[in-house]
Amino acid sequence: MKIFDCVVVGGGMVGAASALTLAQLGLRVALVEQSEPEPYSPEQNSDLRVSAISLASQQLLEQVDAWSQVTQWRACPYKRLGVWEQAYAYTEFNADDIDQKQLGHIVENRILQLALWQQVNTHTNIDLFCPYNLVNLSQESSRVHLTLKNITSSTETDIATRLVIAADGANSQVRKMVDIGITAWDYQQSAMLINVKTEKPQQDITWQKFLPTGPIAFLPLTRSPLAKVTFSEENLSKGNTAEQGGYASLVWYHQRDEIKRLSALSNQQLQQKIIAVFPKRLGKIEVLAKGAFPLTRRHANSYQSQRVLLLGDAAHTINPMAGQGVNLGFKDVKALQTVIASAIGHGECWHDVDVLGRYETMRRKDNLLMMSTMDTLYHSFSHPSPMVKTLRNVSLFAINKVPFINTTVKNKALAYACGI
Ligand SMILES: Cc1cc2nc3c(=O)[nH]c(=O)nc-3n(C[C@H](O)[C@H](O)[C@H](O)COP(=O)(O)OP(=O)(O)OC[C@H]3O[C@@H](n4cnc5c(N)ncnc54)[C@H](O)[C@@H]3O)c2cc1C
Repeated sequence: MKIFDCVVVGGGMVGAASALTLAQLGLRVALVEQSEPEPYSPEQNSDLRVSAISLASQQLLEQVDAWSQVTQWRACPYKRLGVWEQAYAYTEFNADDIDQKQLGHIVENRILQLALWQQVNTHTNIDLFCPYNLVNLSQESSRVHLTLKNITSSTETDIATRLVIAADGANSQVRKMVDIGITAWDYQQSAMLINVKTEKPQQDITWQKFLPTGPIAFLPLTRSPLAKVTFSEENLSKGNTAEQGGYASLVWYHQRDEIKRLSALSNQQLQQKIIAVFPKRLGKIEVLAKGAFPLTRRHANSYQSQRVLLLGDAAHTINPMAGQGVNLGFKDVKALQTVIASAIGHGECWHDVDVLGRYETMRRKDNLLMMSTMDTLYHSFSHPSPMVKTLRNVSLFAINKVPFINTTVKNKALAYACGI
């Protein structure tokens, strides 16, 4: 039976990044994933699942040597972030305000996962088990035993480890196996993701407008490597025409039933609905693909149980309104690496329960703060009272126009969202 220092269950973005950061510490790691991501080719359409990668997440991806591959495939930088409900209260955040070149990049989830897997496949400290499913897990005082099943051949393999990292997503099987409960609620809403081709050239802005039924958002996408991405002003100054337009991911939050109705429409019918509801600044679009996801908030009641730690969506799922989900997961990854590296550096037993407890101390408060902030925003923007509506618009107006509030609140919030 093979014995590993760590077994990471789930080879999504968070699991793959965690395997790499632990392998960087010299630990022997197994990464278990049930399905292999589809390989990249430049002519592929963009995936529906995309993430707004913060500057802090970019640093982590650079640290594990995955970022340069992402930028050689495709990543769309954005410099500005516009938010509004009423036009007079339009507020814009700009990377210049926090002395950065951009606020982040919109990247397809599969591109991120593939770039991480490229590193996983070449790392001598990592054994990749794919396509494997976790069948059984038993916790003992000094080890955890796992039984994995090869999905293609149905053969079973037993392995053992000092530490299991559950990065197996929102419905984590590991979390259920070790009996860690969650606190959860359903937002009674879904988010529809719609990939579109835009008549307008490549844009450097992501925006979100709040409607009484939920926000609608625009995230710029690209099909070009980062080095070839030029923003609209540059495109226009080069005399590019509408045929050389850009791509974008639109997000439409609404009640579940309405999203179900919208999902049943043909692409052309949906296009008409989008043109009717989305602001004029969107311009002409062509719908390329669509899909819907229910919105649920979950927070694990504990991040650890006898040599099993939860990371990423297995520990917390957040309202995706501000695109922070995977960024929180990457912060978990960094925190765990820091805790274990420090324990090794100080001659401590790195897998001791007290050492692992430091990971939860570092992450729980921060995750909770971000989740609660998103909930406060979500509830205040969906509140129907005219007084609350006036108050939130006046607040946005003040954030944008009152110099003191502008430089303190606005720039601090921006730096926090970017993870710097
Ligand atoms: C509509 C929507 C929009 C979003 N937009 C953003 C955004 O803009 N920015 C952002 O940061 N976040 C966003 N998120 C959140 C983000 O997608 C998640 O936080 C992120 O995917 C979590 O990554 P993960 O690796 O923890 O989990 P997952 O991506 O769910 O990966 C889990 C992996 O585990 C594997 N797995 C599961 N069970 C097993 C098993 N038993 N054995 C082996 N393998 C297993 C799965 O196959 C999968 O590969 C959004 C979410 C939604 C719903």
